[in-house]
Amino acid sequence: MEVPHTSPVAEGPPWTTCSIPEGIYNRSMAGQLSTSSSKRISKFIVFTDLDATLLDHHTYSWQPAAPAIEGLRERGYPLILCSSKTLAEMMDLAAELATAAPLVAENGAFIAIPQAHTLAPCLPDAKAYEDYLIEFTGASRDHILATAHALRNEHAYRFEGFADWTIAELSHHTGLDHEAATRAATRLATEPIVWNDTQARWEQFEAQLDQHDIHSVRGGRFIHLMGNTDKARGLESLVSLYRKHVSEFAWTSVALGDSPNDLGMLSVANIAVVIPNPNRSEILTPTSEHIIRAPHPGPQGWNAVISDLIRSSSNLDVGNSNDG
Ligand SMILES: [Mg+2]
Repeated sequence: MEVPHTSPVAEGPPWTTCSIPEGIYNRSMAGQLSTSSSKRISKFIVFTDLDATLLDHHTYSWQPAAPAIEGLRERGYPLILCSSKTLAEMMDLAAELATAAPLVAENGAFIAIPQAHTLAPCLPDAKAYEDYLIEFTGASRDHILATAHALRNEHAYRFEGFADWTIAELSHHTGLDHEAATRAATRLATEPIVWNDTQARWEQFEAQLDQHDIHSVRGGRFIHLMGNTDKARGLESLVSLYRKHVSEFAWTSVALGDSPNDLGMLSVANIAVVIPNPNRSEILTPTSEHIIRAPHPGPQGWNAVISDLIRSSSNLDVGNSNDG
């Protein structure tokens, strides 16, 4: 079914200048189809960063991307939210978007599959959390806290983290209201800390963490301790589950992101979509075979590129099954 062009983006370049290489969908699928003995139906699986990618940087609205999101839903192309946010922070958005697809949370530190999803029985050792099954791609938060706190006790390092604070203290440190601070505190695989010690002692602490497969990612306000994993690992875990257990379809992965912590995820996707961010100076250059640069920031650019990709696939038999 042809998707009507109902994009709310009134201005900007026409569709044909979205920089989507001609026939990208067919080319990226060709290798997978040729490995199959019978011709399988082709589907996209879309992984998206949230802030300044699917969500507007200022208003946090995803509404400008609604036509493309609906297009994905109509074709049964899964939309996977992939963020540094906690699962508790992402669940409301997933409900709002009416997506029953898996999620990638806390910067790729775990994948979360709804318990009612087709893939749920494929994770027999996963841990249940609310309506999801959780599988860590690296260390759990229990391991991170046990390690970091043991080193703090032993060496008298001066640092504080989310685990040390009450919700009121967390609100003070983050500026979040009580409810939002509660969701931010509900962490399963990462620990944000504030380092109050010297640089030399930080380097010593960092090297000690490394021996326990824990590394750090510097954010704006906090240093995030996490396992040796990232959004790319989250994408790869889910794509391999879909390819193995939902093998009646040939899956092409698409990733969208705007910042350096999306680069790994963009690089391992079949199609990387770089969303421009006017607040960042660096130019992201993923190593993916196909790179598309969106014509607008945020959800407007998201809508333009995904709508065009859906259009490019509409001449293929894509079926009606909803894997949401
Ligand atoms: Mg972002």
